[in-house]
Amino acid sequence: MCKREIYVDMDGVLADFFGCLSRQYSVPNWKTLIDPKDKPQFKKHVTDDVYGSDFFSNIKKFNDADNLIKMVSKYSKNGYTLLTTPLPGDEKHTQKQKIIWVKKHLIDLPPKEIIFENKKENWAIKKDGDKEIANVLIDDHNVNCENFQNKGGISIRYQSGIDTLEYVENKLKQINF
Ligand SMILES: [Mg+2]
Repeated sequence: MCKREIYVDMDGVLADFFGCLSRQYSVPNWKTLIDPKDKPQFKKHVTDDVYGSDFFSNIKKFNDADNLIKMVSKYSKNGYTLLTTPLPGDEKHTQKQKIIWVKKHLIDLPPKEIIFENKKENWAIKKDGDKEIANVLIDDHNVNCENFQNKGGISIRYQSGIDTLEYVENKLKQINF
């Protein structure tokens, strides 16, 4: 039996990381908080505040998060796994904070596992004897989705607050679980 894994991203999918950042710094778009000289990094005043803080455990959960997880659990024969990238430069601390967040917010439908990973495409394929099974990634970040797909996985780009759950459900319906 085909048992694909479903990997669900946290920030931008379940947790309103970008909204919380924007509110904390009273900016309309969080992208203004990125350092233009060092694209993957936030500006120093942001990292000074966020690194080592309880920011990640206190992020608001998206209103749609529970329904998304319920839907995923309905289609998956195999539960779901959280696949999330820790904040570069503050990895160990972010991991602890994210675990606190999960214990606070995902009590009713907990993930099988939380995997902290920079390269989500490493989880695109599951080997089952000689067979290769394509896993599924639900993620808000286009590059993650493309890389996962390029490694043979199936990705569904979902940005909470922008995309609808119906959109995700239509994609899930097309996958043979
Ligand atoms: Mg994300």
